[in-house]
Amino acid sequence: MTVRVRIAPSPTGDPHVGTAYIGLFNYAFAKKHGGKFILRIEDTDQTRSTKESEQMIYHSLKWVGLEWDEGPDKGGPHGPYRQSERLHHYKDAAHTLIERGEAYRCFCTAERLDELRTKQRAAGGRLGYDRHCRGLDNTQARASEPHVIRLKLPTEGKIVVQDKLRGAIEFDAAEIDDQVLLKTDGFPTYHLANVVDDHMMQITHVIRAEEWITSTPKHVQLYKSFGWQAPEFIHMPLLRNADKSKISKRKNPVSLNYYERAGFLPEAMLNYLALMGWTLPDQREKFPIKDMIEHFSFDRISLGGPVFDLAKLTWLNGLYLRELDDDRYLGVLRGHVLSDAYLKRVIPLVKERIDKLEDFASYAGFFFSGKVEHKVEELVAKGKTPAETKKTFELLGEEFDTIVRWEAKLLDERLRAFCEKNALKPKELFMPVRVAVTGRSATPGLFETMEVLGKEVCRTRLRDAIAVLAVVKPG
Ligand code: GLU
Repeated sequence: MTVRVRIAPSPTGDPHVGTAYIGLFNYAFAKKHGGKFILRIEDTDQTRSTKESEQMIYHSLKWVGLEWDEGPDKGGPHGPYRQSERLHHYKDAAHTLIERGEAYRCFCTAERLDELRTKQRAAGGRLGYDRHCRGLDNTQARASEPHVIRLKLPTEGKIVVQDKLRGAIEFDAAEIDDQVLLKTDGFPTYHLANVVDDHMMQITHVIRAEEWITSTPKHVQLYKSFGWQAPEFIHMPLLRNADKSKISKRKNPVSLNYYERAGFLPEAMLNYLALMGWTLPDQREKFPIKDMIEHFSFDRISLGGPVFDLAKLTWLNGLYLRELDDDRYLGVLRGHVLSDAYLKRVIPLVKERIDKLEDFASYAGFFFSGKVEHKVEELVAKGKTPAETKKTFELLGEEFDTIVRWEAKLLDERLRAFCEKNALKPKELFMPVRVAVTGRSATPGLFETMEVLGKEVCRTRLRDAIAVLAVVKPG
């Protein structure tokens, strides 16, 4: 058997550190066994998927050094590898299940489902679909009416998921809804598309994050309903914040763009991710990925939730940086914060404001530094309190997270709309934001500056400013 594994990110935001983490374990396993590492883009959520996000996934995976063997940009024997180009497969599959008596058309309207939910809530029982359409006859005749296709789940007994790390996990079948497979608009749900593709792409091992465990009984049932052999399932422990909650933007930078922009070396990043729930037999903490591949095995994975500790990653990165000889160091600097491309974006903003080149570094320093200093009195607009400013920044941080194209013109629009929504005058927001993202009250135009700094730097500095405001005592 040739090992075939995949990662299947949904292109709905910034490239996530969790994608690189899961990618690494798939990659190491594939390389260890001379198998294939496949990239599939799961973009069936048409409202949330974007091309920009897809491009960023490619970029970040390449940056970190996880090259895939088959994928949307590369092709491969089981392509296309982008789900939006495979819709006919999911439709065919759903209809096959109807023919096999394993799925059924459901004509329940949104109103009926709402009413059902209200009744169920009032009765205090289990919420979920009541299988109203499961017994209907000859629904083929009504195929032109709006409907979804649902999977028939067993109404009693257990569904057992065999997880390579956890053993058998049992689920009560009666607790699981008859899952929608194909929606009214003909688009598949995650469950159907994921299983059909894993089967068609001959995936042998599904290595994914723990958060998908509750989906797996549905997948196990789907394989059974199709009469297909299921792959092996390996659910990796979730990356966690220091307080053990699931890693989140509020507490950690989670975008790979941040790590690239901040000057983490990809080798250090991969090494650090390899330590998340896994160890080498000799417990060494610093090692190249080839050592991980050589010693890779699932029984070295521990399930206690690994804490993603930025300070430790930074320490490890320092070790890697110090190993570079001066020429290579210069090379990474010139490929990074001191690249021509970046300098060319900074120059137009600085040119008008200095008269001697020797002033360049001091004037433009905040374009090149990581952290900046925040003075509370400068962060807080006249007439506002630190607590109010902190709240505003928290809301603004959430707003930042939803901005895909980080461009001056759009930032201008979004920040003005944000002022309106939150009953702020522009000057009550713009100066505090300027100070938050640059550490200074006099800078080039705010939106142009933010564009050049990039979303990740702005987001991180905003997070730092929030932390500074959080320790101010009221009064
Ligand atoms: N599209 C899912 C995600 O965004 C894939 C999960 C899986 O690997 O099955 O992570």
